[in-house]
Amino acid sequence: MKKKKKISVQTIIEVMIRAVFFIIYPALFSTAFTGIKLIVEQITQRASLQWNSFVETLVVLLVFTIVFGRFFCGFACAFGTWGDFVYFISSTVRKKRKKKPLKCFSKAGKILRYLKYVVLLVVLLLCIKGYSSAVAVHSPFSAFSRFHQLKMADSLIGTGLFLLVTAGMALEPRFFCRFLCPMGAVFSLMPVLPFSVIKRNRENCIPNCKACNLVCPANLEIPSDKEGDNATSGECFSCGKCIGKCPKQNTHNGLPGRLWLPMLVGKAVVLFVIFRILY
Ligand code: SF4
Ligand code: SF4
Ligand code: SF4
Repeated sequence: MKKKKKISVQTIIEVMIRAVFFIIYPALFSTAFTGIKLIVEQITQRASLQWNSFVETLVVLLVFTIVFGRFFCGFACAFGTWGDFVYFISSTVRKKRKKKPLKCFSKAGKILRYLKYVVLLVVLLLCIKGYSSAVAVHSPFSAFSRFHQLKMADSLIGTGLFLLVTAGMALEPRFFCRFLCPMGAVFSLMPVLPFSVIKRNRENCIPNCKACNLVCPANLEIPSDKEGDNATSGECFSCGKCIGKCPKQNTHNGLPGRLWLPMLVGKAVVLFVIFRILY
């Protein structure tokens, strides 16, 4: 008889948080990115900086990222959730066919992760040169937004890019987030307070175990808490998969492992309430 796979409490909570943010706040990432474009345009035009809902969303997400790591990317961004959903479907189909899940860019990913900074620079340069509306209309973000509203696409280029990105997300975990997302580039540059950086107690590890590294959608080598190495914290989505996977509860964010789930729920509630108050 086939053994039924148990669904963990962590997975159930994750799905609930993601569903709420996906349905209620599907455009936070593009709103925040518009905030960045506006600030850069205003600075280059030497105009006085204007505070509006785009800049407000950006500031909330940046501060939240500095305090809690990339919780937004891990759980609350609708585009990230779409990518994880697509990868989940593709890897489930492959498992059913008894094939290993695809991970096409495991090695190249270490270089390709810098591509998102190039994308960020190119997009900002286009905005400075006055192509801001064209960038907005033809971006995969806009096509995703139309798709989310179950409306017909209004740009062939944007739809094509969205389909390409979706195909990439089916092949590689967090393909768009790791390699191409300009908003992800900004988040990855944020400093993260020490209690939100994921580490492990290497001395306590099971010999030859790599479970936490293998499950990591960002393809990171989880750093040791003894090394004081925070170099990968910007690339970490704070998704907690490494924490859920470790058989020895050896991965942590500086706080006892049992606090991870209550903290996760707490972060989700705080971010949700902030946006409820703002909008
Ligand atoms: S990297 Fe970009 S698309 Fe991915 S979760 Fe973060 S903001 Fe969303
Ligand atoms: S899963 Fe746990 S025991 Fe295994 S390498 Fe990672 S931290 Fe160590
Ligand atoms: S699995 Fe762990 S190290 Fe990898 S992105 Fe998620 S939280 Fe960060």
